[in-house]
Amino acid sequence: MPKTSEIDVASIRADFPILAQKVHGRPLVYFDNAATTQKPRVVIEALREYYEEYNSNVHRGLHALAEKATERYEAAREVVARFIGAPGPGSIIFVRNTTEAINLVAYTWARKTLRPGDEILLTPMEHHSNLVPWQLAARATGARLRFVDLLPDGQIDWNSFLRLLGPRTRLVAVTHISNVLGTINPIRAMAQVSHQQGAAILVDAAQSVPHLPVNVSELDCDFLAFSGHKMLGPTGIGVLYAKEEILESMEPFLSGGEMIGEVTLESATWRELPWKFEAGTPNIAGAIALARACQYLEDLGRENVWQHGLRLATYALKRLQEVEGVHVYGPGPGTPRGALVSFTMEGIHPHDISTVLDQDGIAIRAGHHCAEPLHRWLGVPATARASFYLYNSEAEVDQLIASLQRAREYFGHVLG
Ligand code: PLP
Repeated sequence: MPKTSEIDVASIRADFPILAQKVHGRPLVYFDNAATTQKPRVVIEALREYYEEYNSNVHRGLHALAEKATERYEAAREVVARFIGAPGPGSIIFVRNTTEAINLVAYTWARKTLRPGDEILLTPMEHHSNLVPWQLAARATGARLRFVDLLPDGQIDWNSFLRLLGPRTRLVAVTHISNVLGTINPIRAMAQVSHQQGAAILVDAAQSVPHLPVNVSELDCDFLAFSGHKMLGPTGIGVLYAKEEILESMEPFLSGGEMIGEVTLESATWRELPWKFEAGTPNIAGAIALARACQYLEDLGRENVWQHGLRLATYALKRLQEVEGVHVYGPGPGTPRGALVSFTMEGIHPHDISTVLDQDGIAIRAGHHCAEPLHRWLGVPATARASFYLYNSEAEVDQLIASLQRAREYFGHVLG
């Protein structure tokens, strides 16, 4: 596909077979991309090709199929490394998803590094995947969790961050883009001051790598985690990036086949990076298809994808103000935000909003979006969230608004 300066939604949609369907008799409007994205034909084709043409295990076999599978699997690692600006494939560990990537760090690096009284600095906007693993690591080591204050619009209070960051801070674990508020956190600046204090920084990039041109070398983060399924790739494949010198110092997470150098009855040595952290048969097809997804995004232009998402979020933010009784969360107009909007409507539970929209063929998400503490901070048990991607259009946002207007009229009528 040729590089274009703008996102051509109509031609992109033709690449996504699932989007052609009707739901409840209406054309599908898929606005649940922060949960998972749809897959273009080239990604589905990469999976089919692997299973139909060269399905084989990697690294072990000496036959043609095994060699092809190994070569494609390792080439995928190089594509992913380039995609996020990593210095080389040795720093790319294939895992199942963001959650597993963060757990890998929490079970290895954190348990070995943290001492009683050490501190892990988090924010209240974290997804449970970047909170619960640290609760367990703190419990296991005697470390303590601390939380940066948020400003009313859901951005980090920088003074609070600087106040809490101290000599006891060993790790700052923070989301790059909030999956509820859309807040974009200033990772580069956070990494700089964290390093000055001798703390490492882990970035939950589940919502940023799919949208934003992320470069780990420029961010200078120590760890970064993301999921393939939120960026056009298949489920069951994700990535942990970490600086190689840190990975070298870490013990393996899972152990068994593939990750060993030499094994005796009593002991074993580990393979070099990155395989030391990939025990057992990996998700070979998943990694290859993820690389295909990266190439698809690169062909469109990462900056174009980002601008398109930002434009849709800005447009949705503006149009939502027109619906009576709607309250939108996160940074206001004029502040860059991720490609999503979370909102509530007076007198209608978010689950009911979602059910009514579904009748119009519009898929959104309602609930706490795996960020229960954040919803406690917001003072609501749940929100409705519309999240966008490169195949969505402003016309679809108009449909969302029209559907919300109908929901308001219906519930206004029923509730008197
Ligand atoms: N972190 C953030 C910010 C997310 O939005 C999500 C998924 O919604 C995750 C982590 C967890 O991703 P996964 O379920 O793919 O591990």
